[in-house]
Amino acid sequence: MKKHNFSAGPSILPPEVLLKASQAIVDYNNSGLSIIEISHRSKDFVDVMENARALALELLGLEGKGYKALFLQGGASTQFLMVAMNLLEKRAGYLNTGAWSTKAIKEAKKLDDIYEVASSADANFNYIPKGFDVPSDYDYLHCTSNNTIFGTQLKQIPQVDIPLVCDMSSDIYSRNIDYSKFDLIYAGAQKNMGPAGTTLVIVKEDILGKVSRDIPSIMDYKLHIKSGSMLNTPPVFAVYTSMLTLEWLKAKGGVAAIEKENEKKASLMYSEIDLNPLFKGFAAKEDRSMMNATFNLTNDNLKETFETMLVEAGISGVNGHRSVGGYRASMYNALPLESVKALVEVMSELESKA
Ligand code: PMP
Repeated sequence: MKKHNFSAGPSILPPEVLLKASQAIVDYNNSGLSIIEISHRSKDFVDVMENARALALELLGLEGKGYKALFLQGGASTQFLMVAMNLLEKRAGYLNTGAWSTKAIKEAKKLDDIYEVASSADANFNYIPKGFDVPSDYDYLHCTSNNTIFGTQLKQIPQVDIPLVCDMSSDIYSRNIDYSKFDLIYAGAQKNMGPAGTTLVIVKEDILGKVSRDIPSIMDYKLHIKSGSMLNTPPVFAVYTSMLTLEWLKAKGGVAAIEKENEKKASLMYSEIDLNPLFKGFAAKEDRSMMNATFNLTNDNLKETFETMLVEAGISGVNGHRSVGGYRASMYNALPLESVKALVEVMSELESKA
């Protein structure tokens, strides 16, 4: 039986994508070869890469606006350093909204001066700081659009006159916002896009080439752009599967259509958290994430019963991160509404039993 997969990442992918990807592993387009045993320089794979890069921009409404899409390796974690290497000359601002922002700050600090424009560390990151100032002579402002661990999400895009950089690992392609407000977006593929192994970087070309350091080749966005995202052998399977997921999203009507589904799932989930006295949400209501709902039991004695019921209902991956505890329901693009219904049913059944 297929489980209801609430995993925070790597996470659920559409069944159609899994099927096509597995067929391509055995025989890619009836070529007699697997997608993972052909040259990345072959026409077949170059077409995949170009299609994936074009779709990545098109679905965010960024084509023809001076952006380039890259599929790189090293995870979003490598971008913590790579962003700073390519953009940090004197000083940059960072909005600290969680464990991943904290890590991004730590890496950038290895290169130059960093200023935390605001932080919600004082409340274990259960809210998004608002009303902060960003000096206009900073090299860039870095933010994290969705805090996977804590279940908070940036609802207002910071208004700044300097380049805006955003880690969108856990909510890219999930909501219809003005992506052209950002100058650099990065996201590990393993939540809304594909398997782990590739990181999407979307960068506005005109912000590059302004730092004085000699950037190591593999860390240099300009060189990756010049080589068509093939500076070294790309993670072919992860790129191919990401392309399939982007095609799936396009066929569904794109980001605007998936946003409606995501809103339905999140609203069902949060109304149960709010109405059921056995549960309490972790994140501040106005900052709640549409992707990751974090919550706790109000009575710890029910833990075992609740968790047994979850297993019996085929619900997987709802354990919270160790720094928050409790539960986390990750509701990425590919998670069907039926799965949220199944989880909510277990929660209300617990209430009727208690
Ligand atoms: N940023 C965010 C918001 C994340 O959720 C994660 C974890 N998936 C990362 C960065 C780190 O990603 P990776 O494991 O790909 O380095």
